[in-house]
Amino acid sequence: MMKLDVAHILDWMEKANDKIQQNKTYLTSLDQAIGDGDHGINMARGFQEVIGKISASDYSNVSDLLKDISMTLLSKVGGASGPLYGTAFLKMSMALKDSDSVDYPQFVHAMEEALQGIKQRGKAEKGEKTLVDVWETLLEQLKEQDDFDSVRFEETAKLAMESTKELEAKKGRAAYLRERSIGHLDPGSVSSYYIFSSLSDVVKESV
Ligand code: ADP
Ligand code: MG
Repeated sequence: MMKLDVAHILDWMEKANDKIQQNKTYLTSLDQAIGDGDHGINMARGFQEVIGKISASDYSNVSDLLKDISMTLLSKVGGASGPLYGTAFLKMSMALKDSDSVDYPQFVHAMEEALQGIKQRGKAEKGEKTLVDVWETLLEQLKEQDDFDSVRFEETAKLAMESTKELEAKKGRAAYLRERSIGHLDPGSVSSYYIFSSLSDVVKESV
């Protein structure tokens, strides 16, 4: 049975930051094609700040840790994605109030709250070529199971990320391009894929 504690979430953020730093230029190039070219810079700055913040603090429960992650992303990422990721982690923190670890049903609940927060904030639905496509597809998959399957979770996130390529953007800057956005991956879906493949790695290593 999946169980995530403070150390797992610290590890998750370390791994996510590594992937984002390694792919900063790639994320930026994706955003240059259908946006304003700042997504890699935004995410790399924000996650580096997250690591700085959380490695300098002590946490006795996951919700305080997730809250610091959220506040750092909100204040340091910028763009459309900063408030969206910030809201997602804030909702997770609230859903896990005072928990010192997270079991599978709690994780699914936290993901559900996070997705709702993203959708409330960005007004996007699945299929509109935003990071909602990755988050909602993952949530649907999580609800079909009663425990975390890290291989399936990673594959689902990857397929959802790749599926944004053929979609026409309806929200965010890419929507200004209308049908010219087709044929390009959504940058936020790619960064969400990095975040979730990192989580998959953490769980894989912990069992
Ligand atoms: P900006 O678009 O302000 O430059 P970023 O480049 O950092 O911000 O982030 C762009 C990403 O944010 C997009 O690829 C998309 O996944 C996500 N995004 C943008 N607008 C929305 C929205 N309304 N709802 C959900 N996600 C969105
Ligand atoms: Mg941008």
